[in-house]
Amino acid sequence: MFKANDYMNLFKNIGDDPQKFPLESKLLLKELDLMKILLPVFSKNESIDVNNPQNLLNILFELGKGNLSIGRIIEGHINALLLINAYGTENQKKKYFEKAQEKALFGVWNTEASSENVRIRKKDENFFLEGAKNFCSGGTNLSMAIVTAERSKKPQMILMDISEETPLEADWSLWNPIGMRASVSCKIDFSGIKISADQFLGNPGDYFKEPHFSWGGVRFSAVQLGGAKTIFDRTLQHLKKQKRNSDPYQKQRLGKMAILMESAEQWIYHAIVFESQLEEASIKNKVNFANMMRYATLDICEEIISLAEKAVGVQASMKNHPLEQPIRDLRVYLKQAGPDAALASVGDFVTREKK
Ligand SMILES: Cc1cc2nc3c(=O)[nH]c(=O)nc-3n(C[C@H](O)[C@H](O)[C@H](O)COP(=O)(O)OP(=O)(O)OC[C@H]3O[C@@H](n4cnc5c(N)ncnc54)[C@H](O)[C@@H]3O)c2cc1C
Repeated sequence: MFKANDYMNLFKNIGDDPQKFPLESKLLLKELDLMKILLPVFSKNESIDVNNPQNLLNILFELGKGNLSIGRIIEGHINALLLINAYGTENQKKKYFEKAQEKALFGVWNTEASSENVRIRKKDENFFLEGAKNFCSGGTNLSMAIVTAERSKKPQMILMDISEETPLEADWSLWNPIGMRASVSCKIDFSGIKISADQFLGNPGDYFKEPHFSWGGVRFSAVQLGGAKTIFDRTLQHLKKQKRNSDPYQKQRLGKMAILMESAEQWIYHAIVFESQLEEASIKNKVNFANMMRYATLDICEEIISLAEKAVGVQASMKNHPLEQPIRDLRVYLKQAGPDAALASVGDFVTREKK
């Protein structure tokens, strides 16, 4: 069973350089043997044991507890494999799952500036890419990435062998954040890269198909909630060390934090139950649950950060304090696309579907 606490020495050594890929993510990939966990999820033949602590969401929570950048990188790896399973041909699945068994690290790069969006150009019988992606977690250190590119006015997923694409270069001009630095989420320009039709994954538009697209929010929420748990644990340790934990105001804060973390674990458990009933859950219900969970996660994490900072005071902002990095990492990681739209979608669902 994977528990972050058993790997604390490994997590402690992860650097904070925004241009240095954390090799620890590859070590963890070997340890986790994710394909063994993912194959039953892919086949859907075996029912998911909701109480199995080795469930994917529990693992993402533990990774987030250990280090949010590593959690982000491995969450991207899992997302890529799930997309290949959902939209790949039998040949693609065989080829890329074999690579994953051999511990190749995958990612998914979709985010881009509208002014330089990635698109496919056909020249004679060949396809070429033009444009750049921002926030490419893992950067050129990945083995494979799914890159979306405009085709027939919709995003086409492209399977790209990063290790073979030697002309790819990391552009750091947009990546010097206060947190999540080790996720090395650089910009990459794909202009001029030649691709072939057998690299197309699914059809144009499949990337945004529901419920797969929104359910990604459940997976990143699990990582973020793991980060919140570390902030809670370290706040408690700090107060105990300072002998400030019996003060009534601090007890109130710790009580509130404990309740928030209990809610976090309930969300994760409920998501696992939802996932285990995949066939019964309607697409609309699943999308709504994912939007509710990502918004609830945002609230829980922001409240945990605020309570931790009030409980510990300025020490939490000191470079060598154990709370400093998880707080700034979580602050940055919480910034995911379209939070207002996610909440509005829940409001819309409740108005239309609930009588
Ligand atoms: C550490 C990290 C790693 C990442 N890794 C990857 C990766 O590997 N691959 C990848 O594809 N992406 C990645 N991303 C990008 C991520 O998926 C999001 O696209 C990005 O974080 C969006 O953040 P944002 O705050 O700019 O979002 P926005 O959606 O721009 O939100 C900012 C604010 O604007 C509001 N808003 C949004 N749209 C509108 C509108 N039309 N009108 C008015 N208000 C609006 C939002 O509700 C919010 O309040 C990563 C991001 C981070 C932080």
